[in-house]
Amino acid sequence: MTSGAPNANWCKITFMVRPWRRRADRFALIGNHGCLDFVNTEGVQKGQRVDFLAEFPDLVAWLSAAQLLGPAETDEAIRRWSGTPAGARALVEARKLRASLRQMLEQTARGRPIAASTVETINALLARPLGHGELVRNRDGFVRRVRFGLRAPVDLLVPVAEAASDFLCHATFFLVRKCENPPCLRYFYDLSKNRGRRWCSMTVCGNRMKVAAYHRRAQRRRRP
Ligand SMILES: [Zn+2]
Repeated sequence: MTSGAPNANWCKITFMVRPWRRRADRFALIGNHGCLDFVNTEGVQKGQRVDFLAEFPDLVAWLSAAQLLGPAETDEAIRRWSGTPAGARALVEARKLRASLRQMLEQTARGRPIAASTVETINALLARPLGHGELVRNRDGFVRRVRFGLRAPVDLLVPVAEAASDFLCHATFFLVRKCENPPCLRYFYDLSKNRGRRWCSMTVCGNRMKVAAYHRRAQRRRRP
């Protein structure tokens, strides 16, 4: 056996055991905050509104991608609740929470007070007893997350509520931006040095807006 063979097999086995990794890789975590990244699980592709939380395993895979859920808990949640009515109900609740958080971002952008219903939704989730916090090493340093008891799939929304409460308590609202590409639905927290970030992604929306501006200028030049 060559020295490379065990690693190759290990990778193959890991991929087979954890097919949700492919789902997790589809999420663009460009928001610089878990709350915004969760809202960004609804987007636009080719002019059509797309829900990236199409089914229960997508929700679990997003939590894993956002480092809010460990690999073993991700495996367990998918094994226990995929294709079950309880999993489907949790997905419905996740979409309701997301709509509520999107409304919250729209309200903060307009300088309006946050709706009491949004705070109630977040508090109802924070009231659920969970497990305990733990510090986990990742390639950037450390991340703090909750180790769940995983009693019910709706518990999976608690870390999202934690992210939302962190946002409301600590975020500087004027740094929250919606992508300037009008059809794009994505929000981000502008951590750029000059606070001049305009697009969710330079390669997607940034390029699109620049190409559109170029065509507008070219049209103006052609006019007699
Ligand atoms: Zn965008």
